Amino acid sequence: MITEPKRETRVYCETDVLVVGGGPAGVGAAIAAARNGAKTLLIERYGHLGGLATGGLVLCIMPMSDGTKEQQIAGLCQEIIDRLDTVGGAVHPKKEDLGSTNQNLINYWRHYPFTVIQGNIRMSVQTDPEMLKCILNDMIEEAGVVLLLHAYGCRSIVDCGVVKGIVFESKSGRQTIKAKVVVDCTGDGDIFASAGAEYDDEINPELRSSKLALVFRIGNIDVKKYLEFKDFRSERYFELMKELEALGGFTMALRTWRDDVLWFNNFIGDLDGLNIEDLTRVEINARKSMLITYNFFKNNIPGFESCYLMDSASQIGVRSSRRLIGEYILTRNDINSGILFHDTIAVCPAFQQGKSLENLHMHIPYRSLIPREIENLLVAGRCFSSDQVANDILSPIQFCIAMGQAAGTAAALSVENNVVPRKIDYHLLKNRLITQNVFLPL
Ligand SMILES: Cc1cc2nc3c(=O)[nH]c(=O)nc-3n(C[C@H](O)[C@H](O)[C@H](O)COP(=O)(O)OP(=O)(O)OC[C@H]3O[C@@H](n4cnc5c(N)ncnc54)[C@H](O)[C@@H]3O)c2cc1C
Repeated sequence: MITEPKRETRVYCETDVLVVGGGPAGVGAAIAAARNGAKTLLIERYGHLGGLATGGLVLCIMPMSDGTKEQQIAGLCQEIIDRLDTVGGAVHPKKEDLGSTNQNLINYWRHYPFTVIQGNIRMSVQTDPEMLKCILNDMIEEAGVVLLLHAYGCRSIVDCGVVKGIVFESKSGRQTIKAKVVVDCTGDGDIFASAGAEYDDEINPELRSSKLALVFRIGNIDVKKYLEFKDFRSERYFELMKELEALGGFTMALRTWRDDVLWFNNFIGDLDGLNIEDLTRVEINARKSMLITYNFFKNNIPGFESCYLMDSASQIGVRSSRRLIGEYILTRNDINSGILFHDTIAVCPAFQQGKSLENLHMHIPYRSLIPREIENLLVAGRCFSSDQVANDILSPIQFCIAMGQAAGTAAALSVENNVVPRKIDYHLLKNRLITQNVFLPL
């Protein structure tokens, strides 16, 4: 151990609401805070917004609807999709087709991830990550959010249990930002951990979210030819996939918004998303597996004859790491029972491919975004307060945007009413969310 010398750190600026992390949750929080009247600053460690939904090449927004004609996730998430539609950056079913069991529609959509579940059509969206980066920049700018990219939030400034701002590092050096409310949307809970908030980072290795990933894309594929082979010669296809697995390649090829591009999801176990050596290992080893995969598909799978390796993700795929231990820890039982909370901020369609669920909806309470003892800090996105199973199920992009929208709105209300976030009037928050097209029970 060494002791670093004490030093004075420049105050870069002061703001009402500071959002740290510009992924789905952070974008949701920053836009909502600014639209609700707060002077808002968003900082992001990379050079673009979107987090895993862009830099991580996670190209599917999972179901926003429950299999009926209704759509439960709306609000900002829907606005983002509407904006993507205007530039041809999204593929999804029409609203009027939600819940349909029409066989022609099912046949059309069944190869698009999470769009056909239990024989009916859901609102799931395949996105173009480059268009998404541009759309998010526009929306942040239009909302009046001040954006700082290439800025890494390193620790919170806490005085007697109250967060006063953060310290960040950048090419311009180490500086601080003072804020009335800070929203931790780093995915990994970097800010709440440094504030001394309680958290849990244990994950059952059996859970999907315990696995790391490095997503990549292959382009110039004849996807139609590939799907015909997969459908009509499925035995041969699965034999080949077994061969590829034995060679150390990845077999999960997913349909995208284009007919000539597939994204390759993967699940790499026994590693820790907060350990720098493990993260390095994934970056190196996953790219070796990516090359094996690419060569195998090109040489063996119809449709891939003229393909090329398009790109690999700039953001490593950490599905889950730190989870806040907040005012309320959302549990597996809450999800199974479908319990409605007195402070529900998001109604989430329940879905699990191939499994029947007893309840159509899961609910997220405002208390799961609030740390137990630290004031002026909110948390949104995959690091929200939840047990391992609830986190595994409620971390998809659409739910993170919804949590962000609620946290940003709450942060703005906290500033407007001069009360700490845990004390804001839930009915005020609910009304504000409803006016922003968030679907909430009356
Ligand atoms: C491989 C993989 C496949 C997935 N598949 C799907 C899917 O098909 N559909 C789906 O809906 N969901 C999927 N998910 C889950 C989903 O992508 C994430 O749970 C979701 O993106 C989380 O959003 P977030 O905003 O909480 O975090 P992130 O998306 O991780 O965003 C966090 C942001 O904060 C920034 N940041 C982090 N630390 C700091 C810091 N200290 N200072 C400044 N900035 C910081 C990051 O750069 C990033 O932009 C998948 C996840 C993975 C990894």
